[in-house]
Amino acid sequence: GDSPGGVRNERTVTVPTAEAMRELGVRLAGRLRAGDLVLLTGELGAGKTTLTRGLGEGLGVRGAVTSPTFVIARVHPSLTDGPPLVHVDAYRLGGGLEEMEDLDLDVSLPESVVVVEWGEGRVEELTEERLHIVIARSTGESAQAAGDAEQAAADDVRTVTFHGVGERWAREDLAALG
Ligand code: ADP
Ligand code: MG
Repeated sequence: GDSPGGVRNERTVTVPTAEAMRELGVRLAGRLRAGDLVLLTGELGAGKTTLTRGLGEGLGVRGAVTSPTFVIARVHPSLTDGPPLVHVDAYRLGGGLEEMEDLDLDVSLPESVVVVEWGEGRVEELTEERLHIVIARSTGESAQAAGDAEQAAADDVRTVTFHGVGERWAREDLAALG
């Protein structure tokens, strides 16, 4: 549930390969600034971390962006004078925002770019304004169902929908990202 009446800006793009997903992240990073909240929704293997890897590259931050297996959040400081990237995997963050504030991240969220995988329904209260990105797997379900990890990881098409919520995103030309 997004707040009724909120300003929205939407755009859907097709992303054929993992490399294209990373490049989309690099382009999107060029639009991001301190205080931005990005929520990523999509099933396991959809490409949330791959997109975040591109964001990290585009923002010029330190450290490889990986799937945080044991940590809930990782802070990637900027290598220049830009904002740090705070990468959160909220999958196990049952309590939502309160738990995130308890993480003691040692960063100021308003001075960071915060990307939250599985954030939908958990961290919207952080800000009225957010970019919600939904990644859908168009094909490959059969390989996934068969448990063929190698085939499931092969390039196949994803549909990425950007939902810009709030004034912050109303004027961004999301179409130029595709
Ligand atoms: P998530 O974080 O959503 O669980 P990951 O980014 O960790 O997903 O994994 C996505 C997997 O799917 C990677 O193995 C990647 O190589 C593969 N893949 C195949 N096609 C694409 C695509 N078009 N976009 C993103 N990833 C893709
Ligand atoms: Mg992930």
